[in-house]
Amino acid sequence: MWSTAAVAPEDQLDRVAAKRVLRRSMALARPVRRDVVLSVVLIAASTLCTLAGPTLVRYAIDHGLTPPMNVAAVNIAVAGYIAATVIAYFIGRTQQLTINRAGEGFLRDLRLTSFGHLLRQSMSFYDRQKAGVLVSRLTSDIDSMGELVQFGLLQFVSASLLLVFTLVLLFLMSVPLTMVCLVALPIIVFASVRFQRRSNTAYLDVRDRVGQNLSALQESITGVRVIQAYAREEEQIRRFGDTNRALYDAHMSSVRVSVPYFALVEWVGVAAAGAVVGVGGWLVHQGSVSVGTVAAFVLLLSSVFEPVAQLSQLFNSIQSAGAGLHKLYDLLDTQPDVRDRPGAVDLPSIGPIVVDDVSFTYAGSSRPALHDVSLTVAPGERLALVGPTGAGKSTLAKLVARLYDPTSGSVSFGGVDLRGATTTSLREQIVVVPQEGFLFDGTIRENIRLARAGATDAEVDDALRAIGAWDRFAAFPEGLDTEVRERGSRLSAGEQQLVSLARAALVDPAVLVLDEATSNLDPGTEAAVEAAVEQLMRGRTTIVVAHRLSTVRRADRIAVVDHGALVELGTHDELVARPEGRYAALAAAWAASQPILTTHQP
Ligand code: ATP
Repeated sequence: MWSTAAVAPEDQLDRVAAKRVLRRSMALARPVRRDVVLSVVLIAASTLCTLAGPTLVRYAIDHGLTPPMNVAAVNIAVAGYIAATVIAYFIGRTQQLTINRAGEGFLRDLRLTSFGHLLRQSMSFYDRQKAGVLVSRLTSDIDSMGELVQFGLLQFVSASLLLVFTLVLLFLMSVPLTMVCLVALPIIVFASVRFQRRSNTAYLDVRDRVGQNLSALQESITGVRVIQAYAREEEQIRRFGDTNRALYDAHMSSVRVSVPYFALVEWVGVAAAGAVVGVGGWLVHQGSVSVGTVAAFVLLLSSVFEPVAQLSQLFNSIQSAGAGLHKLYDLLDTQPDVRDRPGAVDLPSIGPIVVDDVSFTYAGSSRPALHDVSLTVAPGERLALVGPTGAGKSTLAKLVARLYDPTSGSVSFGGVDLRGATTTSLREQIVVVPQEGFLFDGTIRENIRLARAGATDAEVDDALRAIGAWDRFAAFPEGLDTEVRERGSRLSAGEQQLVSLARAALVDPAVLVLDEATSNLDPGTEAAVEAAVEQLMRGRTTIVVAHRLSTVRRADRIAVVDHGALVELGTHDELVARPEGRYAALAAAWAASQPILTTHQP
């Protein structure tokens, strides 16, 4: 049977939220509604087959076994019974298949929709959310709904139908005997609801203690060297003994809750059967019901009590799954900050970048990362951003690529405010090469093609040639089809950067935003990466967060950023000529042979 998940208090849904969740789920389940309807029809049919059994027993007793005996009636009943079970078998099979197809289909769509939605979120969303929480939304929350869809709803529908059909049948056979059965119902409902509530608390307790026990175990095993080195074995065994005892206690209290409940339900069933036989026998004596009817009542009793107990317990599971859905829908309702606004236009293919009085504060941060920054980068110009760690260089680069929107002020390209541009044209015209280009499991070719899905092999080759890196990769035994392994572990740091640069070359953007890697490379690859960067910058407007002297020297102008402000802007010669200038100090420190710029600022 399906294990009923407990609901923590914070997971309880109020009535309005529950209604919203239900409406939304029905809308989402629309693609699988045919299977849902079919499942309900099949459940109804299988319920009728279940009820056919006791009805046929009644027929056999009343028409076949009561004098004068009638063998034909018994045969009909037996044949009917066999037919009903065979039909029930086939219906059951189809029903399982249909309900699973509907449930899995619903979950598949939901997982895909949620995943797509997550990937479309802006950077600010990822600043706010914890990766672990997002993963749990897409896995355990969706799984708990899976349980609900496949088992909970199935159980709910079948228990409801069985209860209603059985009651109708009982009423049709004998109203007084039905009344006898109904007397026991409130006891079952009351006991089931009470049991569910108590078993929830016990379940949450067991879940907590299992966690504590596991972490005690894990800590001791990972720290076993230290434990033995200081002869703390006995102490650790005693501590583990405590958590282990607590787990035992929690399990036992959960057993103490369930044992009386199941015993009570069983006893009520037997008592009700006794009452039916007693009252039924008297009614048979009176001549108002047949022996077959009494027998059918005894057989049908479980079809009344079981669904009632199931329904009372299901309530909680539905709550728990509803809470999971509620959290997931909240996530699906989060609109990305950076998205196409109504009337968005394509960016032109050429034009200046104008940063106009831009200030920016990260969500959740009290201090602006940038304030009142204004600058213009002419088409084809190379601008290097330099400054100490945490000055705001990367932030400025991200705003130019519209990974974030400015808190105030604006960034435009070719006269179009980036907020009014289509995201497609934005990603085609302005490309960011991050410090560390993430490599995915797959081949070198696939990793480069990530930048433009439809690119042909020849185009990928051309992109690599454009940055002068084709020969290096082609010389691998498997060439561009070499698997990079997880996170590119098979490539050197420099080679990973070359792949990242080749991605940008494949898009061939008008503007390149480069966050130069700070890590030191071996001289051989460093020269190759530098040459690739040089090739890539050719003929493009480039903004580079520079950490290397060579990169800064290649720039047309240099912008010095400090504490979120643009403090100096000019050519290398202009800036070094300034007495007491920031850049002049930097360049001097640098001349003392320090390759990385940012580490030298006071
Ligand atoms: P580095 O040279 O070390 O890369 P930087 O000049 O590029 O430094 P930024 O990365 O732009 O500096 O950071 C500017 C400020 O904004 C820093 O104080 C940093 O802590 C903060 N910051 C950066 N990213 C975030 C974020 N995602 N959320 C909140 N604050 C951030």
